[in-house]
Amino acid sequence: MVVIDVKGISKRYGQVVAVKSCDLQAASGEILALLGPSGSGKTTLLRLIAGFERPDEGRISIGERPVVDVASSVWVPAERRGVGMVFQDYALFPHLTVAENIRFGLRNTSRKERQRRVHELLELTELVPFANCYPHELSGGQQQRVALARALAPRPGVVLLDEPFNGLDPELRPVVRREVAQILHRLGTTAILVTHDQEEALGMADQVAVIRRGELQQAGTPEDVYYQPATPFVAGFVGQADFVPGVASGQQVHTEVGVFPCSPNIPPGPVKLMIRHEAVNCRPGGILATVEEREFLGGEILYRLRLPSGAMIHLEQRNRVTWPIGHQVPVEVSLSNVIAFPSPPSEKP
Ligand code: ADP
Ligand code: MG
Repeated sequence: MVVIDVKGISKRYGQVVAVKSCDLQAASGEILALLGPSGSGKTTLLRLIAGFERPDEGRISIGERPVVDVASSVWVPAERRGVGMVFQDYALFPHLTVAENIRFGLRNTSRKERQRRVHELLELTELVPFANCYPHELSGGQQQRVALARALAPRPGVVLLDEPFNGLDPELRPVVRREVAQILHRLGTTAILVTHDQEEALGMADQVAVIRRGELQQAGTPEDVYYQPATPFVAGFVGQADFVPGVASGQQVHTEVGVFPCSPNIPPGPVKLMIRHEAVNCRPGGILATVEEREFLGGEILYRLRLPSGAMIHLEQRNRVTWPIGHQVPVEVSLSNVIAFPSPPSEKP
């Protein structure tokens, strides 16, 4: 069942088109990541869904109830949309304890019910020992869980999270995002997670929607957007990709690194072939590429290689093989993980 349904939503601020004819759907219980660079309109879209902004065009339904429809003047205010929000800076009340922060959203229930619900959320977010602490006494990860518990307290059908892990130390982020995903999945809450971090989106979300300059580029499972990017922008933004020139004819693309199958939708002529790092291997007899740069990443060494045409590709060497700069490496590109885009690409990544 579709819980969040966004249709043809646009929002302008003066000359700036922050969101442009966006369609987006989130199914019940799913985490949808809205992924895009800074300034691409993610927060605006979230605020439109929450009811903090009015769109210029389009309509939004939450749980099959229209909450805004410009054409028929439907408008449901934010507090009646059944939406919980978690902000980047957590926005906790510094003078309230953890329990009081969580209780804040539960004004219209009996005292006893409020206590019961607060305790339930303290248990869910593993914050029972911190119930009487103040936010400044907690770690970033714990504060994040308080913000989530507060948003979840009134049992919203939908939770919207705006870059909720930005304030955390990088080494803490994977842990906290796993915890948050587990809590949301356990409750079956539908969530939209705004992020500019592709790793976070791919790792945490059931669906990923990639947005650029206010326009939705592609929505699909993490695997879809990674392996079948719809545009060169998506290819470059989601995961690492290199582009090698080629020529399409029939259902094949000819390049200096080999001949690859391509979609019949690609018109004959020049193309750019997207190659993921993991598709590039060192193989005796392969085409010779020159080592330009080497980066030691711990578990692997990332080599930047120059092909005879001057195009660059990357190779991840998991074995402890050290090639000096200028060394010639025979490379082969595996047939999977390559996608052709008409060239010159309509969008540069
Ligand atoms: P993101 O969250 O992806 O970084 P935003 O939704 O915050 O992007 O912003 C999208 C665009 O809209 C940006 O160009 C931003 O400057 C503009 N914008 C956002 N909010 C406002 C506002 N209240 N007034 C004017 N311009 C705004
Ligand atoms: Mg933002």
